[in-house]
Amino acid sequence: MNIHEYQAKELLKSYGVRIQEGIVADSPETSLKAAKKLNAETGTSWYVIKAQIHAGGRGKGKVKETGSNGVVLAKSLEEVSEKAKNILGGTLVTIQTGEEGKKVNKILIAQDVYYPGASEPKEYYLSILLDRAKGCNVIMASTEGGMDIEEVAEKTPEKIIKEWVDPKVGLQGFQARKVAFKLGLEGNAFKEMVKFINSLYNAYIGSDASQFEINPVLKTSDDKILAVDAKVNIDDNALYRHKDLAELRDLAEEDPLEVEAAKSDLNYVKLDGNVGCMVNGAGLAMATMDMIKLSGGEPANFLDVGGGANATTVEAGFRIILQDPNVKAILINVFGGIVRCDRIANGVVEAYKSIGDIPVPIIVRLQGTNAEEGAKIIDESGLKVSSAITLAEAAAKVKEAIS
Ligand code: GDP
Ligand code: MN
Repeated sequence: MNIHEYQAKELLKSYGVRIQEGIVADSPETSLKAAKKLNAETGTSWYVIKAQIHAGGRGKGKVKETGSNGVVLAKSLEEVSEKAKNILGGTLVTIQTGEEGKKVNKILIAQDVYYPGASEPKEYYLSILLDRAKGCNVIMASTEGGMDIEEVAEKTPEKIIKEWVDPKVGLQGFQARKVAFKLGLEGNAFKEMVKFINSLYNAYIGSDASQFEINPVLKTSDDKILAVDAKVNIDDNALYRHKDLAELRDLAEEDPLEVEAAKSDLNYVKLDGNVGCMVNGAGLAMATMDMIKLSGGEPANFLDVGGGANATTVEAGFRIILQDPNVKAILINVFGGIVRCDRIANGVVEAYKSIGDIPVPIIVRLQGTNAEEGAKIIDESGLKVSSAITLAEAAAKVKEAIS
């Protein structure tokens, strides 16, 4: 689960990570109020206005309606109200949103932390994520922080420092110092960075995150180290023990079909293809997607209806798949292990009748207990549904349906 920058920064702060302070707002009036409060609390008289959407690249992104960038500097309270208006309610397009962009419902009014001083402010990159191949967490850092880190990783990968942390022993003091040293820091900035990395790692572990990306981490002109941006991804499977974090979910940022599927306890991921599929079990669902590709189609989705496939889950699955206009055929692939094939076949027929006319052909492949009885029910239903028992048979029918 992704959370917004303003929520991520509050989470980091609660673990003692220094952040660029800010207050979230949803109107020009609350933006102005937020700026005044920030001025009173931090003394800042310049402000950064930041669109809150679940996508990066906002600084270089553009609001369709007004041409404003997604992150802008305001040098007075008047400019805050004015510039907030050009972002709020608009559609922000960045390299990560696709052409359709994302609607901006909230903005973060933050203190300006790039003020002049004894030295130039400098941007670094820092992230923590799970390295599945090594079974370790990995801290990645770079002196080339800022808005072009993807390019750095691609063209000059040697500029990315990596430090692996064994989750059983946790982050060791020398490791945080090693990273800070490799970033070329000295004196107070070095000490601040070590503290920053330690607190950040604690926050990562404490929140059961799967990814933290802080870009940029800023060394201010007076040698403070702080998080200017924060991308936080929490492991969905751990949300049951983080009720407070689970509440941060913003459904407006998620695919509406995926949200609807979750309500029916269906495991659905929208894809771009033309063959919808409904399967029991994640492994079989993956194999089914491969099979669709082999038969010349492209899967329109991943959908695991779970072990107890019945008329209700099948109907919910149908309704979700049918909302996708790209779907030209639907393949149902169910293995009747615990659940019998004839019961599933009856469920499919019942769900079909309850929805009414389904405009695309449906192929139902049932294998396992009572497979023949199931196929018979499908074939004799008088509906636009055809049955298959082997995978090859199903693949051939999918091919026929989409050509
Ligand atoms: P992203 O583009 O979505 O990754 O958004 P960021 O939060 O990383 O902000 C983009 C850029 O805005 C940063 O790389 C900075 O260059 C700039 N920025 C952020 N905060 C400040 C600030 O306090 N003052 C100034 N002058 N620039 C800032
Ligand atoms: Mn950023």
